[in-house]
Amino acid sequence: MQYLKKMAIQVKCPQCGKMTEYSDKNPWRPFCCERCKIIDLGAWANEDYVIHGRPIEGDDDLDISKDSLAKGKIHTKKSIEH
Ligand SMILES: [Zn+2]
Repeated sequence: MQYLKKMAIQVKCPQCGKMTEYSDKNPWRPFCCERCKIIDLGAWANEDYVIHGRPIEGDDDLDISKDSLAKGKIHTKKSIEH
């Protein structure tokens, strides 16, 4: 019954759907690799910005979003992930 010891938890990579090991051996868990992790986190961050348009000051959600775009605040965020 050696295989019981070696049993690893397999998870589906949220980015590419590939089955990958969820263990200390996989520093990118639950993703299969660094690339998938970065892609997913980057996509999530962008999505979050677009959908919620987190107002930086006040409650004028739409205006602030457009303002942020115009001022290049979104670009600042993107340059971090670059
Ligand atoms: Zn993957």
